[in-house]
Amino acid sequence: MFRRVWQSVMIFMARSDAITRFMQKSRATSFLVSKYVAGNTPEQGVEKAQALLTKERLRSSLFYLGEYVDSAELAQLNIDNKLAVAGVLENGELDLHISVDPSQVGFAVDPAKAREAVFGIAKRIKEAAGDREGVHCLMLDMEDDSYVDLTISLHNELKEQGYPLALTMQAYLKRTADDMQKQIDAGGRVRLVKGAFVGSADIAYTTQSDIKDNYRRLVAMMLSPEAKQRGFYPIIATHDDKIHEFAIEIAKKNGWQQGEYEFEMLLGVRQDVADALAERGERVRLYVPFGQDWWPYAVRRIGENPRNGVLLFRSLFS
Ligand SMILES: Cc1cc2nc3c(=O)[nH]c(=O)nc-3n(C[C@H](O)[C@H](O)[C@H](O)COP(=O)(O)OP(=O)(O)OC[C@H]3O[C@@H](n4cnc5c(N)ncnc54)[C@H](O)[C@@H]3O)c2cc1C
Repeated sequence: MFRRVWQSVMIFMARSDAITRFMQKSRATSFLVSKYVAGNTPEQGVEKAQALLTKERLRSSLFYLGEYVDSAELAQLNIDNKLAVAGVLENGELDLHISVDPSQVGFAVDPAKAREAVFGIAKRIKEAAGDREGVHCLMLDMEDDSYVDLTISLHNELKEQGYPLALTMQAYLKRTADDMQKQIDAGGRVRLVKGAFVGSADIAYTTQSDIKDNYRRLVAMMLSPEAKQRGFYPIIATHDDKIHEFAIEIAKKNGWQQGEYEFEMLLGVRQDVADALAERGERVRLYVPFGQDWWPYAVRRIGENPRNGVLLFRSLFS
């Protein structure tokens, strides 16, 4: 009950334009920015990625903040920022994923232009990787269920043309086992998340325990001997340490070496768990958002655990 009230308050705070404007201008919230967000610019995103790799052996997935845009101008701003990140990848030892939400580059506004933009970003990432094997890829994030078919076919088309890329799939959707099998057969690269959306019982698992059970079934598919043989690359994206252990156990049993699969978590969330996995030699990546429009993202992270209230309180009143 308390958790639900807490989350509703945080969602209200994330959606309020007035609160967003106030928080993004306030100096008091700088603590939150540095916990969950890398900064405002692509350069600050890449700097954070470099620091995480050097100090903590953690790789990064960079994401320019801004979702579900409803104007061509905003879509263009998002595209420009993705291209700017891709533009600073050419040198150094980084192995970066660049995350793109289809809605963010304007699929709801002008699908042809958005498609062209995604191909442009993929091309820039491929050029930045050059002939370095396994370095940099375009990660397609997954949004609500109305975007699933579009995102998968966009992914498949890009893959056919040889672009380095990966696809996010959500354990809350019942269709995901079939979608996953197709990506395993094709030797793809998939990031599995629980899903940040809710769906009706005909298409989705609706309780946390059913979603977790499905997550485990999907992890078992991703780390099966068959998936390994096909050259599939599993990315297990959760903060759930019991699932991390479950995945490591299956990986060992089926002969996967560390680095042939990876874990991904969000910057600022259970960082101790990420560090402990990396210390055990596991490959770990953090999702590192950057951009001016950071408040809705940060407050959603706070809302995921009522214990984070202390963070909000500390940043506002210190
Ligand atoms: C790298 C990455 C990419 C993602 N991309 C997408 C996407 O493209 N599409 C999509 O729908 N969803 C995406 N998500 C979100 C995902 O679907 C879940 O909503 C989110 O990860 C929470 O689920 P969990 O698996 O961590 O498990 P949970 O069961 O929510 O959490 C596991 C444990 O971590 C703790 N925890 C979780 N969040 C916090 C927090 N903010 N602060 C403190 N403790 C916390 C919980 O208290 C619990 O102990 C992504 C998540 C990650 C990590």
